[in-house]
Amino acid sequence: MQISVCAGRWGNAGDEGSGALQGYARVGAKGLIPSPGWAGTGAPPASLGACAEGPGAVPSSVGGEMHSGGLGAWVGAGPGDNHWSYEEPERWGEHYPACSGNKQSPINIETEKTIFSPELQPIQLSGYSLPNSKKFKLKNNGHTVVLDLPESMAITGGYAQQYQAKQLHLHWGSPSTAGSEHTVNRKRFAGELHVVHYNTKYENFKVALGYPDGLAVLGVFLEVGPRENPYYEEIIKHLQKIQGEDEEVMVPGFNIAGLLPDSLHLYYRYNGSLTTPPCFQSVMWTVFNQTVMLSHDQISVLVTSLQYDDGKPLQNNFRPTQALHKRWVLASFEPTLSRERQVPTAGQTSSSFHAGDVLAVVFGVLFAITALAFMYYVYKQRSQNARLDSPTKSKVIYTAATTENTA
Ligand SMILES: [Zn+2]
Repeated sequence: MQISVCAGRWGNAGDEGSGALQGYARVGAKGLIPSPGWAGTGAPPASLGACAEGPGAVPSSVGGEMHSGGLGAWVGAGPGDNHWSYEEPERWGEHYPACSGNKQSPINIETEKTIFSPELQPIQLSGYSLPNSKKFKLKNNGHTVVLDLPESMAITGGYAQQYQAKQLHLHWGSPSTAGSEHTVNRKRFAGELHVVHYNTKYENFKVALGYPDGLAVLGVFLEVGPRENPYYEEIIKHLQKIQGEDEEVMVPGFNIAGLLPDSLHLYYRYNGSLTTPPCFQSVMWTVFNQTVMLSHDQISVLVTSLQYDDGKPLQNNFRPTQALHKRWVLASFEPTLSRERQVPTAGQTSSSFHAGDVLAVVFGVLFAITALAFMYYVYKQRSQNARLDSPTKSKVIYTAATTENTA
């Protein structure tokens, strides 16, 4: 999750900015302080509004922390003062208190501990096929490559509410190391795509940042495969043009759904945060179970093209996995047949037999019946054959006379 499009600096005046949001007072041109009515409302500061994703509001759960420090970190801070980096992610909390919260992302997904939830419906998308005739901004923001997405793109199924797209970006490693943010059973993948959306019940993206259900991010693991991926190529082929920090290029639209796996019904869901400062705990994560393949060359271009402003390669832009604390990770599918971890659906009592068990018994009985029938058939055939056998064979086993006598 990377929502910085302000060159990675919070508190600098942006270009989208305008209007102070309610509950805030502007402090010079560089920042805002909360007005008395702010506590826990989650209204974001206007200066951040400038950046489509500056430090916006804070979830009420961390509102207190923000009062004590986080807000101060960017009030009055000039551009660059709070430039965070992936070199010391453990220190993000010093300037961005939410980063020390207990619902942080990314996490390691232990598949054995996930909980099957039949209520997690397939993810449904609308407007994901962007017209080739329109162009969209692709930018090196100093932390990742970001593609701005139009309001017409939305998630229409798989969440309790509707979410509208904001931007997508990627996380990666280096030529020799993997760089996904989430891990599955401690396995780290080559890279990870994040498609960021916000809940349409909130006025805008910045406001949504202040609520636990404010954002929906779709996470996709990238792996090295045998073929070039034509959808990812629509991004990768432009990276050479935005090598330097803050550089941007307008790129033609393409089918964004092509960046996602085929199976949109198999995923993990948990409540977490932005994976970059200010780390607000406002993300309902969807991490797809199925991975997407890019060619070795494509991954190679992805991890070697972008640079920081000091000319160093922009690599390993992933945050270490965070403690789960008391959170559960739900799965839209049943990873195992273990009934202990299955959440009973509404109205269903905790029955001792589940579908898997019943099927096992049914198949066992069917197998036993089939085996018995087969044995009986073989027995009958052998007795019949004995009677019809040729004289030579019958001499070996028993005499025809004996057979005749018994008949
Ligand atoms: Zn991200």
